[in-house]
Amino acid sequence: MLIDSHAHLDSERYQDELPQVLTRAYDAGVGAILTIGIGEGPAEMQCALEICRKFNQPDGSAGAGLPRLFASAGIYPHNTHEADEAALAKLDGLLAEPEVIACGEIGLDYYHDGSPHETQKAIFVRQMEIAAARRRPILIHCRPKDGDNACWDDCLGLIAEHWGPTGIGGILHCFSGELEHAERAIELGFLISFAGHLTYPKAQALRDVATQLPLDSLLVETDAPFLAPVPNRGQRNEPGWVAHTAATLAGLRGLPVAELASLTSKNFSRLFSLDAKLPWNV
Ligand SMILES: [Zn+2]
Repeated sequence: MLIDSHAHLDSERYQDELPQVLTRAYDAGVGAILTIGIGEGPAEMQCALEICRKFNQPDGSAGAGLPRLFASAGIYPHNTHEADEAALAKLDGLLAEPEVIACGEIGLDYYHDGSPHETQKAIFVRQMEIAAARRRPILIHCRPKDGDNACWDDCLGLIAEHWGPTGIGGILHCFSGELEHAERAIELGFLISFAGHLTYPKAQALRDVATQLPLDSLLVETDAPFLAPVPNRGQRNEPGWVAHTAATLAGLRGLPVAELASLTSKNFSRLFSLDAKLPWNV
């Protein structure tokens, strides 16, 4: 069984098609999906949790013929100018829910001109404090300006100062940095999650990084509906297609796909202390 560690199932690009999308994921071997609760801003932070409750059984286990769903909640870097006290209180309340196992995606984005960097940093720190009090791992979005490592340095610096001491760990989602960035994060208790661009012809540097990381630090994700992997590049992505990224990663590591699936599922379960709750043996 594979786990898609990052998908936006609340995207308006799925709408009424979600039952079919989830069925296709299950049929492709996806046993669980972490659906990201950032919406288009804090007003939609609860949408991922609502999707979990719609498709899981009442006891939180997987629906029949469907992957088990987990949710996150967080305020995306470019929505941090909307992060007033009410939004932060809402985040805290959501992180108290059993299905909401992670805080994210949070972090810094210097690529787009969204919220000012100082606002992004301040709200990133506030969210780490809230997540620490709820003992929820954090999902990190870090997007540098091309050719400039300031975003990584700021992001990893804030994590080291405000999150490292908690020992709770987290995930570098949709990793696209350098080996050094991944290694610094792993030291701080993070897992490194690879999305569809691992399969893109021009991403050789990223594949080289993926080849060198410890096996117990690896995850795969879709970031659906974005970043569809080869051979579906350019289309609306969906969780079942995480199998393509997993196959690429397995090839890089010289492992059978089933083994890669098992070890990434184990990594996910370990981070979120889920072993006892999973309905299958990973
Ligand atoms: Zn995302």
